[in-house]
Amino acid sequence: MEAIYYSPMLLGVCLLLAVAVSSTALWYVSRPYAGPVFWMAGSWTLIGGIVLFFGFIATGSPVLNVLGNAGQLAGEALFLIGIFHFMGRPLPWWIVPVSVGVMVAFNIHYWMTSGNSDFLMGVYSTIAGLLPVQAIWLLLKSREDPATRPAQVLLGVSLLLYSAVVLLRGFHGYHDWWQGEPYVSPLESYSYLLPYNFGIPALVMGFVGATLMTMQRILAVGRTHQIRAEYLATRDDLTRLLNRRAFRTVAERDLARALRQRHSLCLAMIDLDHFKRLNDSYGHSFGDEALRHFADAWQGQLRETDVLARYGGEEFVLLLPDSSPQEARVLLDRARLAVAETALHAGSSAVSVTFSAGITEARQGDTIDLLLSRADEALYRAKDNGRDRVEVWAPAQ
Ligand code: GH3
Ligand code: MG
Ligand code: MG
Repeated sequence: MEAIYYSPMLLGVCLLLAVAVSSTALWYVSRPYAGPVFWMAGSWTLIGGIVLFFGFIATGSPVLNVLGNAGQLAGEALFLIGIFHFMGRPLPWWIVPVSVGVMVAFNIHYWMTSGNSDFLMGVYSTIAGLLPVQAIWLLLKSREDPATRPAQVLLGVSLLLYSAVVLLRGFHGYHDWWQGEPYVSPLESYSYLLPYNFGIPALVMGFVGATLMTMQRILAVGRTHQIRAEYLATRDDLTRLLNRRAFRTVAERDLARALRQRHSLCLAMIDLDHFKRLNDSYGHSFGDEALRHFADAWQGQLRETDVLARYGGEEFVLLLPDSSPQEARVLLDRARLAVAETALHAGSSAVSVTFSAGITEARQGDTIDLLLSRADEALYRAKDNGRDRVEVWAPAQ
């Protein structure tokens, strides 16, 4: 009874059991993510190996010894494979058969030749301590995923601690074997307590790191989705310009600021010329291409604060803070040439697209709707005057 009361082994096994149950829960809540299923499988295999090993201690059965040792190593290897899977790296599957195979071979040799159990423990610990090296290197070196970096470091450092403890235990085994120390029962050897007292807590820390890493990944992916959805909600599908609703939000803010600071601000309505004819002659998809061409032609022409949006159909709206009507006219004329210059190809014929635009400058008391209707008036004048031109609204109209 006293032995159980003071048993770090029992506590160690309970901690591992807690990890196995928690990793199962982690797998359950994060099923689309790679990694946790291996951590779950690895934890349970490790527990299975320990239970078999306890069976060996109770019965002395060599088969249980082999299976117990091999099971623990297989569990550890599976846990490590989960890390590679999570980080999207090629899976080092070989670590399972190689570690298990080497252990089984040494175990059988030990039973056949009634070899030294300290030496066998040294071999087991060497394998278990070296297994995580590849994963530790990856975790501490990789800077590809900044979102999960802190958790990667925690996991890497935990595994490093685990490796150090296990290798120390291996060193102890080799030392006792070399010195010919008399055999002590595993239950009385402190080299068995070392991994239970310090190795398993390091594994628990590692599992916490793996959990945080998964959660950080889930949060990061969620944020990306959200940003993407917000982007899609403000953009026009065809041209990727701001849509009408998003334009209004930005324009209202810019107009209020311009009026408050008494800065000039211009708004232009732009309408492609004879677009119906273009669609009728060359087809709707050619019309779509022309719209995209129009949107692309503005690249490099606008300032960071200028806002070009698709207002609807083949109508666009341009907001120019800190621009006078003269400056706006220069900009629009330059864009008119840029759009017309690069011809689009419809089969063998080259088609050039032109547009008309109407500009108006903001005045105190203006609203976006007032600006839009004045720009529209100027645009109609541009159409009346023969298209392919820019007009500035004047009160005389
Ligand atoms: P105007 O010079 O007077 O502006 O002549 P217009 O033919 O451009 O005049 P209108 O505004 O009546 O015609 C616009 C045409 O643009 C009608 C519509 O079929 C076409 N259109 C609107 N949206 C799209 C689109 O997304 N893709 C394509 N291909 N055509 C579109
Ligand atoms: Mg139109
Ligand atoms: Mg038109």
